[in-house]
Amino acid sequence: MTWYHESMYDAGKPAGSYWEDDAPPLGDGIDLGALQGDHVCDTAIIGGGYTGLSAALHLARDHHIDATVLEAGPLGWGASGRNGGFCTLPPMSLGYDQLIKRYGLDEARRFMASQAEAVDLVADLAARESIDLNQQGRGTLHVAHAPRRFDELKEEGEFLTRTFGLSSTLLNREEVAVQHYDSTEQFGALHIHKGFGLHPLRFARGLANAAAGAGALLHGRSKVLRWEKSGDEHRLITATGSLRARRAIIATNGFTQDSLNRDLSNRLMPILSNIIVTRPLSDDERAAHHWRTELPCSNTRQLLFYYRMLPDNRFLFGARGDLTGHPADGAIMRKTMEKRLGEVFPHWKDVPITHYWRGFVCMTARLTPAIGQMPDDKNVYFALAYHGDGVSAAPWAGRALANIIGGKNSFAEIPAPFIGIPPAFPFPSLRRWYLRAALGYYRFQDNY
Ligand SMILES: Cc1cc2nc3c(=O)[nH]c(=O)nc-3n(C[C@H](O)[C@H](O)[C@H](O)COP(=O)(O)OP(=O)(O)OC[C@H]3O[C@@H](n4cnc5c(N)ncnc54)[C@H](O)[C@@H]3O)c2cc1C
Repeated sequence: MTWYHESMYDAGKPAGSYWEDDAPPLGDGIDLGALQGDHVCDTAIIGGGYTGLSAALHLARDHHIDATVLEAGPLGWGASGRNGGFCTLPPMSLGYDQLIKRYGLDEARRFMASQAEAVDLVADLAARESIDLNQQGRGTLHVAHAPRRFDELKEEGEFLTRTFGLSSTLLNREEVAVQHYDSTEQFGALHIHKGFGLHPLRFARGLANAAAGAGALLHGRSKVLRWEKSGDEHRLITATGSLRARRAIIATNGFTQDSLNRDLSNRLMPILSNIIVTRPLSDDERAAHHWRTELPCSNTRQLLFYYRMLPDNRFLFGARGDLTGHPADGAIMRKTMEKRLGEVFPHWKDVPITHYWRGFVCMTARLTPAIGQMPDDKNVYFALAYHGDGVSAAPWAGRALANIIGGKNSFAEIPAPFIGIPPAFPFPSLRRWYLRAALGYYRFQDNY
């Protein structure tokens, strides 16, 4: 079951992102196209985003395991090809104190360290596989959207350093205005020194090129429509072919439909994230907001805005929202975002928007991501639910599964917040209403 409009799952259509207009194409012969006929492999991977492509790359390159990816759209069609390009951490919606309370300080530290390593992994993959990411900035800027939030940022910075060894610099309103930018919702910021901005589709296609180069087989336009099991063998059936495999990895994140796998249904909450991009700003327009930073920025709103200046001076502005995925509600969302951009950056309120698109991020009821094996079939693995922070977490998780399947590591190496199948949502058919209630609550918190 899914409550979102069917157009959100139409992988025959481009996402409409700026990245699609700007990224170099995949190498020739990398995408083998729709699976035709019956095939066999060792490990079948469902989903051709960062998780699936990284799993395929590491299985093929490091473990010489014969892996095949089946992707419903073109490779990187999902969130991986259309996100905001913030390579940052951590991939969860749990508060830090809850993280420590639930998993203990040692596991919380292991989790955060693993995700700092995940940011480094992205840079390492780019260097090793010659992927030009259009990398920007060193760190991320977390901006107080209201004066009262500044003290919270100060506490957060001290806490992150003391507890997790993450360094940061606290900047007051004037310092941010001089060093980074100014706006109507800028009351100081925390510059966390880990992370950077990147071009998401360049990264996805670069991973695909690398995975294919290492010997993995990649099939776009190959949506898994049915999943059969006979003895120990899995059979994944697409519109034009089928793939038999000993093992399967579910790497479908927010685009997972409940019908894909019975054991995973009702355990995920897809949430829409939306992005608008302007035409390139002139030097005078940039100067009007003192814009001089390359850092990806987000603010302290619960329903956060995220924004960054792209290398060609286009401004990218993102926000969560819309509960239906209906095209008409998308049009409303776009208007709302244009209005908010104009309120926060008034000098840019009339700058034309050239692109609007959206896609799914994925949450769980326990508010942490999930890596594991299906309880009743240890040959079915999953890695998903990065809570909107998957640019680094997803390739890390794909590699983690490859290393487990390849016998290099075990699940003991995975920090506890990731481990195991997430719990089902109570009364799953009410998920949309949980979301509606949460959005209302967050809006209230953002504005009080
Ligand atoms: C608008 C937006 C902005 C975001 N911004 C950021 C950001 O700035 N920083 C950050 O860290 N994270 C961000 N995210 C989240 C991040 O993009 C994801 O966490 C990450 O890309 C997940 O990668 P993935 O490979 O697990 O999933 P995806 O990239 O979503 O890939 C899953 C794939 O599975 C395919 N699929 C689904 N069902 C089937 C099936 N039955 N058969 C075959 N294929 C199937 C889909 O077509 C899809 O391509 C954003 C997400 C969105 C939507």
